[in-house]
Amino acid sequence: MIGRYFLASRQFEVMKRCTIFSQIANFCRKVLGKEEGDESMTTQEPVHTATQRSAGPRRTLSRDQHPISRKEISENALKVLYRLNKGGYDAYLVGGGVRDILLGRTPKDFDIATNATPEQIKALFSNCRLIGRRFRLAHIVFGRDVIEVATFRGHHHQVNNSRHVSAQSDEGMLLRDNVYGTIEEDAERRDFTVNALYYSAKDFTLHDFEGGIDDLAERKLELIGDPETRYREDPVRMLRAVRFAAKLDMHISPRSAAPIKELASLLQDIPAARLFEETLKLFLAGDGLATYKLLREYGLFQQLFPQVATLFTPHGNSPFEQFIEHALTDTDTRVREEKRVTPAFLYAALLWGSVEARARVLENESGLPWHDAFMLAINEVLDAQVRIIAVPRRFTTDVRDIWALQQRLTRRQGRHPERAMEHPKFRAAFDFLLLRNRVERGLGELAGWWERYVESNPDVRPQLQREATRGGDRPQADKPQGEGEKRSSNSRNRRRPRRRKPKAAE
Ligand code: ATP
Ligand code: MG
Repeated sequence: MIGRYFLASRQFEVMKRCTIFSQIANFCRKVLGKEEGDESMTTQEPVHTATQRSAGPRRTLSRDQHPISRKEISENALKVLYRLNKGGYDAYLVGGGVRDILLGRTPKDFDIATNATPEQIKALFSNCRLIGRRFRLAHIVFGRDVIEVATFRGHHHQVNNSRHVSAQSDEGMLLRDNVYGTIEEDAERRDFTVNALYYSAKDFTLHDFEGGIDDLAERKLELIGDPETRYREDPVRMLRAVRFAAKLDMHISPRSAAPIKELASLLQDIPAARLFEETLKLFLAGDGLATYKLLREYGLFQQLFPQVATLFTPHGNSPFEQFIEHALTDTDTRVREEKRVTPAFLYAALLWGSVEARARVLENESGLPWHDAFMLAINEVLDAQVRIIAVPRRFTTDVRDIWALQQRLTRRQGRHPERAMEHPKFRAAFDFLLLRNRVERGLGELAGWWERYVESNPDVRPQLQREATRGGDRPQADKPQGEGEKRSSNSRNRRRPRRRKPKAAE
């Protein structure tokens, strides 16, 4: 049964390496297949947890009972583990590193947990940086590779609630969590059972304190402890649940899924800078489309992008919703092909519908010319969004350029096309136009023209421009089509006097 779960996974279908198959098969047979299981092979101790759900017995699996081998762990992570052990400390690989190896995936990064305090870690490594206030962590830096080392966390309620070690908001959110404890306590403080598996490079044992091995086999994401309390402590765990479900092709257990919709609004208390980091993991890690769909289902996307959510339709298939899905599908493909992806293009795509909708309102209500209404809408939409998610300015600048270029690309006379092509964001804007053309009506001729123009020899380009002019290229053509076509022809063709130039918001 266990083997079936593993083999059914999407990741496993992709993973053709038979060595891994045999490793997992052995692992399942020896450890997970309780029906054939040899109880004597695992050490079982009762573990007392504060969780409502019984965590199950602690299991310690010896080297031959699990498929993790040092070959799958980065050299740098091993160096850190060995150095900590040599210094007399306990140290374990934990979290995604262990979980992903057990699932036959290549871990994104390697996290280490130890009983050494941050200061003790710093004393051992010259390449160590201590970071974080909320969670103090050590980063061991090897060039571009960073190994994150965390001291075992304890229960904050057991120790004096000194302002320096632990603090909680009125809503139950943990503002600081720097109480250190034992490995068992550390396991309880982690988010999901499958993230609370510990591998020792000293004796090659694998430790499961919360039933993570069984849950991994069932492809089940189970929050450790009472879900509502744990989401209140850190609402980002709701985003993590969805992210892991999409990325690992797992399901969120009913008890862990139940409170999410109701608690989704707690995301409003999360600092905007942290949410920016989270959105990169949600949308730019290769499973953006699946993650987006789950985020919507659980009402989490609506908290992150309220302006976008107001435009959602019951069946989720309006042109702009299709546009978002196309953008995420393309992004996922690019990630898989190891091509560069940029947050600017993603944010430009996610917010495009909101900008167009806002521009239309401004045009109709305030009588601004379309161009001015559009530029004002760009400012308003971005200003509102960065209050929730702190998209750094270097990216919002690019988002503006991609959007503004949509207008410039409609001007095909004179030196306009040549100048547009010289713009550093031209390629992104051109791709954006092609993407729009997949859902917006009335863009086919323009998109096709630009494709020919970009590919053609410079000698041929003036001819293409003449053809565009003959085809009736008018300044008003920069108005969005598609939904915009629903406007009255009167409104579409009326030229209004220019009133004022909008001020840049940033
Ligand atoms: P990945 O790195 O593949 O995204 P991960 O599980 O390793 O997944 P990290 O953000 O690297 O995620 O965190 C490492 C580990 O730290 C997690 O596996 C989990 O045990 C613990 N952890 C991270 N964030 C939280 C949180 N918000 N609450 C509780 N535990 C957490
Ligand atoms: Mg990790």
